[in-house]
Amino acid sequence: MTVTLKALDSGTKTIPDDTLDALRGAVRGAVLLKGDAGYDTARTIWNGMIDRHPGLVIRALGTSDIQTAVNFARDNGVLMAVRAGGHQIAGHAVADGAVMLDLSQMRSVHVDPVGRRARVGAGCLLSDVDKETQAHALAVPVGVNSTTGIAGLTLGGGFGWITRKHGMTIDNLVSAEVVTADGNIRTASADQNPDLFWAIRGGGGNFGVVSSFDYALHPIGPQVMSGLIVHPIDQAKTLLRDFRQICADAPDELTVWAVMRKAPPLPFLPAQWHGKEVLIFAACYAGDMAAGEKAMVGLRALGDPIADVISPHPYTGWQAAFDLLVPGARNYWKSHDFTELSDTAIGVILDGIDTLPDPQSEIFIAHVGGAMARVAGNATAFPQRNAHFTMNVHTRWEDAKKDSACIGWARDLFDKVAPYATGSVYVNFMPEDESGRLGGAYGDNLPRLSRIKAKYDPGNLFRVNHNIPTQVAAQAAE
Ligand code: FAD
Repeated sequence: MTVTLKALDSGTKTIPDDTLDALRGAVRGAVLLKGDAGYDTARTIWNGMIDRHPGLVIRALGTSDIQTAVNFARDNGVLMAVRAGGHQIAGHAVADGAVMLDLSQMRSVHVDPVGRRARVGAGCLLSDVDKETQAHALAVPVGVNSTTGIAGLTLGGGFGWITRKHGMTIDNLVSAEVVTADGNIRTASADQNPDLFWAIRGGGGNFGVVSSFDYALHPIGPQVMSGLIVHPIDQAKTLLRDFRQICADAPDELTVWAVMRKAPPLPFLPAQWHGKEVLIFAACYAGDMAAGEKAMVGLRALGDPIADVISPHPYTGWQAAFDLLVPGARNYWKSHDFTELSDTAIGVILDGIDTLPDPQSEIFIAHVGGAMARVAGNATAFPQRNAHFTMNVHTRWEDAKKDSACIGWARDLFDKVAPYATGSVYVNFMPEDESGRLGGAYGDNLPRLSRIKAKYDPGNLFRVNHNIPTQVAAQAAE
């Protein structure tokens, strides 16, 4: 049976039987077509708005399968999308009619507890990495939802509960194995292909397919002082101002995020609060338990909370505290960075909570900085080192009939908050329609990224992503 795939530039390409047979014979994993077992699982990703049908799926089991897939896509001139954890809001993991390179089976983690290093397969979820590293009471800073893929998170930057203490995920990346568009397997590190190493630390999947990542690890846990404090929303104006001050004074070990939404039916919340608007402080102390208890005294003394469940929690459990954002719902995000949260910005954000379009929609304000801010903006491709807060307007709903109301709410709030924000954005929080916001994502690093793109992927084989153009390089060179 032949298969028709989307061509790289335009039109389609029909792949003959014998080419398909040769591909099947070459990969250790599987080649799946529509109707095959596993095809729908591979194409289904976290954001339920994305419902696309790849022309074929190559389910890789190792680096050689990745190499075969890259060579196949390039030699046949067909479009290729790369899927790891499948969590990206923009849905670049899957494209209609394309070859989908599915890395989700590559979930090995090897920890060297003496050298404090972990080698992590590109299909790992954050939970895989946390479980294996925590077996040695070690961790690498990652995100706050344990079902997220480590690969997409790392390639965009990566931050979470221990970033202020130990840096971003990319700041702990020691090396990576990358299959580039020419099919070569390269090591990217400070010593080998340093330009590629610089670019993959924030530049996304533009430069090749990473098969494994080597990370530096830090002692953490196995328990961390952490938890939630839930307040009625009517106290939020004052509380967010206090939050701003607590964040300004916080030691690197302390991270506090603010989440505003309708209260989910959490077991520790009295039933009368379920579905009511609340402000939730989520806090974690990356260090000694007694010091953590002390560091949280100010936060815990604020206002008159409905619930306070700050206590020692297993690190792996705390890392999964936001897993209630399960896959399948429809999602749309808009994001801003702030160096400071002005009173006016707080007012505008709170006005947005008055008009939440769905009980699952929320606004969160992540507290960043600390070690992350002590790395120069041009040391890695990720440039936004001076942000102190990152806000995500996170619309989430189930019914497709609510699409325009929910997306409209996020865009409207985003526009109203824009005058108080820096204009920059974390690439991993950009929805698909924000591909024109590359300047916000990369700032002054964009021309260098373009030059490196032109070197490693001159034909733009890796284009199903927030695509870095090679043309900027040409302009910059003139
Ligand atoms: P995928 O959708 O599988 O991949 C995204 C894209 O990355 C791919 O389309 C491809 O272009 C590229 N890619 C993936 N793997 C490779 C590879 N091996 N080689 C080359 N290119 C590749 N981010 C944070 O930093 N901190 C957080 O706390 C955080 N929380 C989140 C919570 C939720 C619920 C969600 C949905 C996302 C969160 N994110 C967070 C954002 C997250 O970092 C991105 O969604 C990221 O893209 C997820 O990676 P993935 O591997 O799951 O994605």
